[in-house]
Amino acid sequence: MRRKLAAGNWKMNGLQANLSEVRTLNELAKDAQCDVLLCPPAPLIGAIAAEGGVVKAGAQDCHTAVSGAHTGEISAEMLADAGAKYVILGHSERRADMGETDTIVRDKTQAAWTAGLVAIVCVGETLDQREAANTLDIIGGQLAGSIPDGASGLNLVVAYEPVWAIGTGLTPTTDQIGEVHDFIRTRLERRFGTGVGRSTRILYGGSMNPKNVTEIAAVSNVDGGLVGGASLKAADFNVIVQAL
Ligand code: PEP
Repeated sequence: MRRKLAAGNWKMNGLQANLSEVRTLNELAKDAQCDVLLCPPAPLIGAIAAEGGVVKAGAQDCHTAVSGAHTGEISAEMLADAGAKYVILGHSERRADMGETDTIVRDKTQAAWTAGLVAIVCVGETLDQREAANTLDIIGGQLAGSIPDGASGLNLVVAYEPVWAIGTGLTPTTDQIGEVHDFIRTRLERRFGTGVGRSTRILYGGSMNPKNVTEIAAVSNVDGGLVGGASLKAADFNVIVQAL
């Protein structure tokens, strides 16, 4: 049985003052039936981890190397040292803005595993790709290229995030979500074996909010959500936590 995961991606939002939202969420979600995670900007990871409680801390990226001459970068080991348990990798904003390729994402995933972090590997198609009926080809290629050998249900979470649904208020139909999640499950089983494939959590991400979470969470092979905007306020995110 896969335990569901509510993962919040704060993106480049959040100051010390916003730690009050984390305290509120820890209180509201203290009896949550799913895992609860917030991935803030790196300066807040240590503070969120230090709060303790049900809300775990994660990061939004890591470098491939453990240390060295990479000004401005943060290694997976440093994130783990700060208290992070998870790291989001290959988010479409980083693939688009930073030119992150599947190979880079795969190397970052390997670095995350070496540091003991759970990698949340993001995959998703653009609107052009969906309209050209290339969605499953794109997702299949990203899965093959971005995930190293050695995946398990404990070190990997896959997040299906259609690029056109992120921050737009648009969401795929539940049939479209189910088709992609079933496809990801099949690919994971085929490559890593049924045990790993069946135990790996697959999140949906892209304009998930308190209103649509129940419908999306009921889709087959949806094991939780990766949530941007609706994770910034504890009251909103808690509705999602409670619905999963
Ligand atoms: C995200 O950034 O991963 C995301 C899903 O954002 P939003 O929920 O705001 O669409």
